Amino acid sequence: MSLFSCDTDEYEVVIIGNGPNALSLSYILSGNVPYYIPHQHPNTLLDQKLCEERGKSLLDNDLEYLSEGLEGRSFNPVALLFDQLLRPEADLGKDQGSCLKWHHHPSKAIKHLVLGSGPPGGCWHNMQGSQLTLSLNNWLELPGCDFQDWLRDHRSSTVRKPCNLVTNGVKSDGYNYDRATTSHIAEYYKDYVENTNIEGNFWSDSEVLSVKRVLQADCTNCHCRTTDVQRDGCWEIRGVRTTDSGGCEPFIVHAYNVVLATGNRFPKVLGIPGEKLPFVYHKMDLIDRYLNELADSPLSMDPCLVVGAGLSAADCVLALRNKGIPVIHVVRKNANDPKIIYNQLPGVVYPEYYKVGQMIKGDVTTAYGKDAMYTPFTKTTLVEIRKNKECILKKADGSLFKQKVSNVFVLIGAKPDLSFLRGVKSLGAKPMKPVDSKENPIDINPFTYESVNEPALFAVGPLIGDNFVRFGMGGALGIASHFMREEE
Ligand SMILES: Cc1cc2nc3c(=O)[nH]c(=O)nc-3n(C[C@H](O)[C@H](O)[C@H](O)COP(=O)(O)OP(=O)(O)OC[C@H]3O[C@@H](n4cnc5c(N)ncnc54)[C@H](O)[C@@H]3O)c2cc1C
Repeated sequence: MSLFSCDTDEYEVVIIGNGPNALSLSYILSGNVPYYIPHQHPNTLLDQKLCEERGKSLLDNDLEYLSEGLEGRSFNPVALLFDQLLRPEADLGKDQGSCLKWHHHPSKAIKHLVLGSGPPGGCWHNMQGSQLTLSLNNWLELPGCDFQDWLRDHRSSTVRKPCNLVTNGVKSDGYNYDRATTSHIAEYYKDYVENTNIEGNFWSDSEVLSVKRVLQADCTNCHCRTTDVQRDGCWEIRGVRTTDSGGCEPFIVHAYNVVLATGNRFPKVLGIPGEKLPFVYHKMDLIDRYLNELADSPLSMDPCLVVGAGLSAADCVLALRNKGIPVIHVVRKNANDPKIIYNQLPGVVYPEYYKVGQMIKGDVTTAYGKDAMYTPFTKTTLVEIRKNKECILKKADGSLFKQKVSNVFVLIGAKPDLSFLRGVKSLGAKPMKPVDSKENPIDINPFTYESVNEPALFAVGPLIGDNFVRFGMGGALGIASHFMREEE
């Protein structure tokens, strides 16, 4: 019972970031509880385990026991379990539909708030809209809202606009039914909060500036001090929010638990001389703008230099070549290195990335005919960019050479920004290093997703190494189970 009125909102859970992983978590915390449909999963052992506790919700089941022995493209066992139940044997090409049914139990809902700098959907709103997703559509679908149904409704309510990069899986109406455009996914996520009735938990256009622990005794503004439960203080979250009139207002909210769902926010940099020069780009949206402003087939232009062997680098190479701009492509690894993503993706499903993989190996004719102006430099690094647009490159044997360019595009991945955390212990498994989705993810309890070093702080998605949406949403199951499970 409250002894005094408070002027600071207080929540059980505040989620920072409003991308797909936050959306999935908010859906479950809103009282939507998953149940296994008996004998739906083709893995007999998993089916048997799930049937042992018939009628029990998945949140009340032992996630450690259920996920034991599952294997796949995530290091997090709960991520593999949730993925298996939502998309059984998806990696074997199966599409049999989910093994879960959802029931709404309002009494189980947890008071929570989702704060995000833009609209719901997170980084999907910053992508090049016409680009095709890497994942198949149903891998990007969130619980409780069928993507194909959404797409059908969306198409009937908008002017038909076929996606422009597709060569495979396209039906006669111009739509790709396997891989959507990123703008479709962004819109699906934006609509998701309304379609699933969870929009009341969202503060969009809210930037979190600081998160710190406050002790119960010092917490004068919220219920925290007056609850009957003894807690070790709470988190104070400060930020600014865009008002309806377009202004900016500061806010403070308190929460007993904070979930970091902030994804990868900033592009990685090489850290070499000249990287801040105005003709050097790191962000895909700036690159898009540059390309849109450029006339088609510009004459006598020095080549653009692209650094990186990921999907964004491939998209950039293709976009430049489509404009007729000569490209120098600099890749640290050997062209045949199996770690390069183009060497992992089947050409039938991903013709565009396969094409870039072939081009790096020297098969220029695959893509653009004999006069194609694409030069790959593998086992090579960019070491300096000069004001006069000369780039200094280093071969594996240590020798240097120069290339004159018109622009440089550095597309080597992204990193998180957790600078808003104040007084928090180091979160990565390597404490001396910054958190990084590949090199140093946040060290968590694999079943509750709580930080090993900082109690009441949780993390999901790329922050813990799950860079694909289909696995990131496993965090929603782990965290929700931690808060909502019924003790026996
Ligand atoms: C070009 C590209 C293509 C991709 N294609 C695929 C694909 O095909 N399939 C797939 O599974 N994955 C893909 N991904 C990865 C996928 O986008 C991410 O794994 C996923 O979006 C992560 O979800 P999230 O909810 O953890 O965070 P995000 O989607 O990154 O959302 C986090 C949000 O939090 C906001 N935020 C961060 N800090 C703060 C703060 N202090 N205050 C307020 N808000 C904050 C960010 O601005 C962002 O909007 C792609 C990524 C990129 C860049």
